[in-house]
Amino acid sequence: MDKDDPSCPVRRQLIPSSSEQLNQHGIDRYLIHKENRATEEKRPDSIARQYHDRIAFTVTQVCTVYCRFCFRRELVLDDKADLNMSVDEGLRWISEHPEIRDVLVTGGDPFHLSDDKIEYIVRKVQEIPHVGSMRFGTRSVIALPHRITPGLKKVLSGNNRVPIWINTHCNHPKEITEHTKKAVYELLSCGVNVGNQAVLLKGINDDIPTFQDLHIKLLRSRIRPYYLFYCEPVPGSDHFRTDLLKGRELIKKGLRGVVSGMAQPQYVIATDIGKINLMDDDSIVSVDENEYVLRNYNGKTTTIPAVGKG
Ligand SMILES: *Cc1c(COP(=O)(O)O)cnc(C)c1O
Repeated sequence: MDKDDPSCPVRRQLIPSSSEQLNQHGIDRYLIHKENRATEEKRPDSIARQYHDRIAFTVTQVCTVYCRFCFRRELVLDDKADLNMSVDEGLRWISEHPEIRDVLVTGGDPFHLSDDKIEYIVRKVQEIPHVGSMRFGTRSVIALPHRITPGLKKVLSGNNRVPIWINTHCNHPKEITEHTKKAVYELLSCGVNVGNQAVLLKGINDDIPTFQDLHIKLLRSRIRPYYLFYCEPVPGSDHFRTDLLKGRELIKKGLRGVVSGMAQPQYVIATDIGKINLMDDDSIVSVDENEYVLRNYNGKTTTIPAVGKG
């Protein structure tokens, strides 16, 4: 990040701002709300479940960089959240649930763990017969590309029964360097595919030239754009949130037909009833200045507080 420029797009993502204190539209105790931790099904804290066949498995609360808009910021900032992210409890739960096909290892940043710990998780997940794929969600490929060391490559490589996918997190073309490109190449050479999950951020990547450049540069770096997330209503993130329809507009005007089909992410919002694809007309029930009512794949609806005009 640029130490002299307060508007640097990387700096704005990571350095606290007094705007965070406004918090008019954030949902309190967001993590508990969103991950349905109050439901009947008993699960270890490390397992977040919104789908029948796949889960998000939190293996650490530590990150390489701390994004100010993180939907899990309470995990780090709020000790009242009091969650116990036990890897072994999570592994046991997965092995006892034969319907789970896809294990999404997340955090924190799982690549912040030691090679030994990552190897343990990879080996244990791969040993579960009903698991068919595993993914790591990690910002390290972008924020700490030097983390892709020969030791880590050894842990991830091989034509295993269970393929490994990585989704990294890059929001601005400035985050992609020659080091990133090399790290991605190293991962691909291990048989690991690399995708990207970006967050739509006001004043950072919500203009057409930056948005286009981001997607062109991702593809040039061998990273396949997977999701563009609407910024979630966590407390303190109002100043990062755009209109709900902004992401659609950026994809339609900035990417469709103009850049390779390979560079087109799906625009989604992650909610308490799973991800909702915002490119589908029937997923948006209503949009007004107070709230957005959204519908998921199986017809359930949920409400998100808006940030001003729809
Ligand atoms: C995001 C998420 C997934 C993965 O969803 P995909 O649409 O398959 O990428 C799985 N479980 C939970 C709880 C999630 O939040």
